[in-house]
Amino acid sequence: MSFSLAIVGRPNVGKSTLFNRLVGKRLALVDDTPGVTRDRREGEGRLADLKFRLIDTAGLEDGAPGTLQDRMRQQTSQALSEVDVALMLYDARAGVTPVDEHFADWLRRSDTPAILVANKCEARSAQEGVYDAYALGLGEPVVLSAEHGEGLADLYQSIVEKL
Ligand code: GDP
Ligand code: MG
Repeated sequence: MSFSLAIVGRPNVGKSTLFNRLVGKRLALVDDTPGVTRDRREGEGRLADLKFRLIDTAGLEDGAPGTLQDRMRQQTSQALSEVDVALMLYDARAGVTPVDEHFADWLRRSDTPAILVANKCEARSAQEGVYDAYALGLGEPVVLSAEHGEGLADLYQSIVEKL
């Protein structure tokens, strides 16, 4: 594994689904229930001929000290400090939310290069949310469906360009 990636973004955008797809289903749980305790996970990701260390930022534990925003920021900055490239996911069906804007803001201030990923794009209704992304100031998004495995070739291309 010659490089490392972190998947960041607000809860429920599909980070763990992408992690599972790249690392394998044995290592991670995906849960629909908001607020479920999920620890940060790491594994060896694979995408075509790439092999990398992958971090899924996830564990926004119930009852942990600090506001949710503090904990998201802390976990994100910790992950960013450890990796070569960050994948920032947002939910293109839901469109860009204020919380996504916070994440984009943290990433723009970080030294870690970021790839913006518009997830849940298997649906036609996600199209508008893809155009929304330009407001985040992180460039053109990779259009992806982590659940359906669509857009992985474009993700591959974007990763290779950042290395
Ligand atoms: P996380 O909180 O960011 O780790 O999000 P999860 O990976 O746990 O996914 C949250 C929800 O979004 C789950 O119900 C997933 O099945 C769903 N999801 C993830 N990726 C996609 C996708 O590409 N398309 C659709 N429609 N749903 C997805
Ligand atoms: Mg998760």
